[in-house]
Amino acid sequence: MQIIKREQCKQKPNADAPLGFGHYFTDYMFTMKYTANEGWHDAKIQPNEPLRFDMATSIFHYAQGIFEGMKAFRQPDGSVGVFRPDENWARMNNSARRMCIPEFPVSVVEEGLEELLKLERDWIPHGAGTALYIRPTIVATRVMLGVHASTEYLFFIILSPVGSYYAHGLEPTKLLVEDYYTRATLGGTGEAKCLGNYAASMKAAEEAEAKGFDQVLWLDAQEKRYVEEVGSMNIFFVIDGEVVTPALVGSILPGITRKSCLHLLRERGYKTSERRISIEEVIKAACDGRLTEAFGTGTAAVISPVGLIRYKGVDYEIGGGKMGTVTKLLYDTVTGIQNGVIADEYGWMKRIS
Ligand SMILES: *Cc1c(COP(=O)(O)O)cnc(C)c1O
Repeated sequence: MQIIKREQCKQKPNADAPLGFGHYFTDYMFTMKYTANEGWHDAKIQPNEPLRFDMATSIFHYAQGIFEGMKAFRQPDGSVGVFRPDENWARMNNSARRMCIPEFPVSVVEEGLEELLKLERDWIPHGAGTALYIRPTIVATRVMLGVHASTEYLFFIILSPVGSYYAHGLEPTKLLVEDYYTRATLGGTGEAKCLGNYAASMKAAEEAEAKGFDQVLWLDAQEKRYVEEVGSMNIFFVIDGEVVTPALVGSILPGITRKSCLHLLRERGYKTSERRISIEEVIKAACDGRLTEAFGTGTAAVISPVGLIRYKGVDYEIGGGKMGTVTKLLYDTVTGIQNGVIADEYGWMKRIS
């Protein structure tokens, strides 16, 4: 793979300053182009610097674009491990199909990411709870205002050293049940990791934040009755000892952390179920003391305990504001596997030497 070197590298963030999420970016990026004539081509690693785009570039107008999020971690033996990248590449190609973006060859981006990580390994932070966040994205780059799928695309991967996703770390989060705005509808793009899903969700998130909440808990668009997911995470509830998460009905993003948690729970003999779960059922269980835990799952925050939900103006506390045992087991196991301190029995970590 071609590597275009930069003359001067950037200053890395101070080792003891908090990294936050997505504030710092490394020296290089992977890029690859698509044209109708050549298909995906020109895969290379180049300095991560601003590129120039015509103002009529279609991504700016119609948001025909998709992204992924995964993480690389330092391993005790000094190597680098990426958590389940094959799953992300497969999901990205699913998103591509939904958004009329041509599928990309996985082997090329796999090699691109590997070369990029080898070049940027010094950027992987050392502190507990930190990682190198990997952001692959595809944007439509044809210069044209007609509303059609683009015939040109840019694939890029940028890297960002990150700390905890939330400012207050592992403190239980407060969720506002959103009963007006909709994130996704059946037949829409909720299942795809496309750029526009987030643009559509910001209004609700902003209003929830203004009321002191961390995220919104989305309900289904049709009836505003069934729980779907949290802002950028899938949602789980522990009710009467059963671990329940909404079934992937078509408007829910199929999270890889969600899938990994279900796998770990089943291996450990927990009763799990993927089914539709109504907000009334959650509230009733909370009132009866049968809802013992709730947590969100996603690459950025990993496992995030939920301490409170507000529905129709009433607050319901969950787990006494503390992290529950199932939540903690999953957090410790997933992060343990990611950091190489718990044996990776399932072959989830891809090693980069
Ligand atoms: C990415 C994402 C998730 C979590 O998926 P992971 O693969 O676990 O990171 C959940 N919901 C939405 C809307 C997402 O975009």
